[in-house]
Amino acid sequence: MQRVEERAYAKINIGLDVLRRRPDGYHEVKMIMQTVDICDDLVLERTSGPGIQLKTDNVQLPTNRDNLICRAAELLMEEKKIAEGVKITLTKRIPIAAGMAGGSSDAAATMRGLNALFDMGYSEKDLQRLGVKLGADIPYCIVGGTMLSEGIGEILTPLPAPPKAHLVVAKPDINVSTAFVYGNLHVERLKDHPDIDGMAKALSQGDLQGVCERMGNVLETVTVKEYPVIDQIKNLMREMGAANALMSGSGPTVFGIFTDSKQAQAAAAAMEEHALAGQIFVTGFYAV
Ligand code: ATP
Repeated sequence: MQRVEERAYAKINIGLDVLRRRPDGYHEVKMIMQTVDICDDLVLERTSGPGIQLKTDNVQLPTNRDNLICRAAELLMEEKKIAEGVKITLTKRIPIAAGMAGGSSDAAATMRGLNALFDMGYSEKDLQRLGVKLGADIPYCIVGGTMLSEGIGEILTPLPAPPKAHLVVAKPDINVSTAFVYGNLHVERLKDHPDIDGMAKALSQGDLQGVCERMGNVLETVTVKEYPVIDQIKNLMREMGAANALMSGSGPTVFGIFTDSKQAQAAAAAMEEHALAGQIFVTGFYAV
């Protein structure tokens, strides 16, 4: 094969709990991940000379080893001792440093793409085992869909997809570092934990209302304190008819779940009018 196209989908966390900080510094999580219909496109092409070349339409992003795409490619090419090179072209749409796993999803798409391009023979499990070395969200991004994610993110249990709904995704113009958020989280002081088991049950019953009632993200305790605009966005989404609204991952992106498409459109327009977010999408859950 000479050329492969891959899509890298963004995720949201409809529930995110942190159970404890392990002695090695990693946090043990319990979260429900969901793919949303916002994606980056990657094209991977063989080159005769060696090396990994990355090109992207987004000038903010590094194109060297600081980009997770290059690190993922390097990992696989070294493991399989591939002498040829690869050129990767990225069209970026997922908001950056947003809590939507954009970098992890690009890395996962790179791994899937290289596996096909060079006929590497890896199973999904192999790619997940390799990917976790680069980031805790990568094992999930290899497969996507609706998943309960535990451990540091490597223990994945598929769940039924939520019923169809309209999503408004809004990223305010601030960049949040995941390391800062986890570094400032005091797990032992958390009073409220989202009911992740109850949410998983609501999903298996196809109960969207039950899912929305249980939405919660303990990382909001850190990020919202630092950036009150997150609460403003959540409140506006609820005022505009969202069944519920929540920050995704370590933020600052907020998503609102709507059952009515007109209300979703109106909420997005209101967000724009109040200039609360620089990037706004009206989208939906993506079933893989
Ligand atoms: P997560 O939800 O996994 O915490 P995120 O959405 O918060 O991810 P990313 O968009 O993945 O954050 O990027 C965080 C940082 O990683 C950015 O500052 C960016 O420079 C760097 N980065 C490296 N590779 C990529 C990539 N392919 N896409 C986006 N960011 C990347």
